[in-house]
Amino acid sequence: MIQKPIAAIATPYGKGAISIIRISGENAISIVGHLFPKISLTKIKKNTMKHTQLIENNQLIDDVMVVTYHAPKSYTGEDMVEIFSHGGIRITQNVLQTILRCGIDLAKPGEFTERAYLNKKIDLIQAESVMDIIEAENDLQIQIAQAGLQSKISKTIQEYKQTIMSWITHIEVNIDYPEYESENQVTQSFLKPKIQAFLEEVKNAIVASKRNNIISHGIKTAIIGKPNVGKSSLLNALIKEDKAIVTDIPGTTRDIVEGYVHVNGIKLHLIDTAGIRDSEDTIERIGIDKSKKMMDQAELVIFVLDQTTPLDQDETTLLQSLNNKPYILVGNKEDLGKNQTGLDVISISAKNSTHLDELESKINELFDISSIQTTDFNYLSNERQISLLEKSYEHLEKALQSTITETPIDMIQLDLRDAWEALSEITGDTYHESLVDDMFRRFCLGK
Ligand code: GDP
Repeated sequence: MIQKPIAAIATPYGKGAISIIRISGENAISIVGHLFPKISLTKIKKNTMKHTQLIENNQLIDDVMVVTYHAPKSYTGEDMVEIFSHGGIRITQNVLQTILRCGIDLAKPGEFTERAYLNKKIDLIQAESVMDIIEAENDLQIQIAQAGLQSKISKTIQEYKQTIMSWITHIEVNIDYPEYESENQVTQSFLKPKIQAFLEEVKNAIVASKRNNIISHGIKTAIIGKPNVGKSSLLNALIKEDKAIVTDIPGTTRDIVEGYVHVNGIKLHLIDTAGIRDSEDTIERIGIDKSKKMMDQAELVIFVLDQTTPLDQDETTLLQSLNNKPYILVGNKEDLGKNQTGLDVISISAKNSTHLDELESKINELFDISSIQTTDFNYLSNERQISLLEKSYEHLEKALQSTITETPIDMIQLDLRDAWEALSEITGDTYHESLVDDMFRRFCLGK
């Protein structure tokens, strides 16, 4: 799908040694060719830099280096031109405006990568990895994003799809040709061990992908507990700056306060919530509702207790509602007295920042953070991709159940199809336009 040419500045706004102006689209090279009268832009050696001048109406715009890439061998799969101009703000703008005056549109954020995806140069996993490389703040994140950009993960997903498709087509043949020899029939008992083994593989991939996601995007951590137990103090102690409002009036942390802290290179995305308790106060109630929601969304719950007082009913109820979410019990205010909660807590004082290292060790242990550093990164790494893999897993599980209950084979085929569809959405072989649009608009301009 070759589209109308677009252009954008691909380097950050500001003064620098050079700026890069990128152009891509149908006939992009010939459309801007006349701006380089000293060379023949369509004929210069492709993928090779050429020193020349950018001239418009006999007026020198800038001394530049220029490269051409011919479709389909370019980042976008279209004809592309990259101009390396001097890196001033005004001069870069001048070059861009000169290009736009050729009837070329200004690109939207991420539009070059979007075109690369639409032209099948990369799939959605790779496109998201491009963004992750740009956003990466540490080396582990870069390693994961680079693994995503290499097509190994995409190949694994394609292999999964082929496995499922082979069952689907086999079933279809059986339906279309019922007279087939009985040993060639796909029966429930034929499918059952195959789906079972496959589910095991997908499950392992989900676990490994979640680890990747933790490294790339951190662990969403909710700090919960009754008002006044020291949640905000703990957040501040962990992030070592006064971001949360610390107060001794119960229920004053009404909104959600956030902070980041790194434990052995893993980012904890901390969310301090309002005290969770039954309340008649409407403003506080909004905060409480939010807190419960945050608890649901969190991947880790740090449950703070004032260890100098016994557990009350609210706390008991809350503890029960945690279900099987990973959580850590923190007994705060150790400086004021002994543990009265009757629970095995990590004893700390948020106010004095004592024993926070024990809390960090516990987080380390829960998520096996030390071993994450040496893990195989060839798995998925973001929530969108992982939730689709989980969706696929659920459909496969349903299909497996159906083989056990001897459900008709054509019904099982429907679940297999749904499982296959979910995998297609991961790579973007099938996609929803709005999702793709949303995703690429989060990219930076010129990418
Ligand atoms: P939150 O409502 O759970 O967020 O609690 P805050 O962090 O606002 O703390 C409530 C009160 O307890 C404040 O006066 C804090 O100074 C105090 N506090 C918090 N942690 C400790 C601690 O470890 N020791 C003592 N003595 N006081 C603390």
